[in-house]
Amino acid sequence: MHEMSIAAAVVEQVADAAVRHGATAVATVRLEVGELAGVVPEALAFCFALACAGTVLEGAALETLGVAALARCGPCAVEWRPGMPPDLLCPRCGGPDAVLLTGRELRVREVEWAGTVPSAPAPPS
Ligand SMILES: [Zn+2]
Repeated sequence: MHEMSIAAAVVEQVADAAVRHGATAVATVRLEVGELAGVVPEALAFCFALACAGTVLEGAALETLGVAALARCGPCAVEWRPGMPPDLLCPRCGGPDAVLLTGRELRVREVEWAGTVPSAPAPPS
């Protein structure tokens, strides 16, 4: 179950960012998950809660944002939704030279901080 290692990596990344932002708590983590990333959102949410325990992310909510897969044929530039399991043969020419444009995303899009330490007032402009 690779969701655990994904969750651990996300928590580590957000915890690092929290230090840079001076945040002491995290409200929500929004994660882009591609249709073909092979992640089960329920399993990821479960692992995320475990990975958060004892870190600055404790109690943070995880929102997964599904990203639809999109493929494009090299020779004829047709774009299509390959679906799951992915059909990567071009629907027009039948060629195998498809490039996956989206669908493998697995990245933190946004973090909502909680308990942010007020930063220094901006200098007058
Ligand atoms: Zn084609």
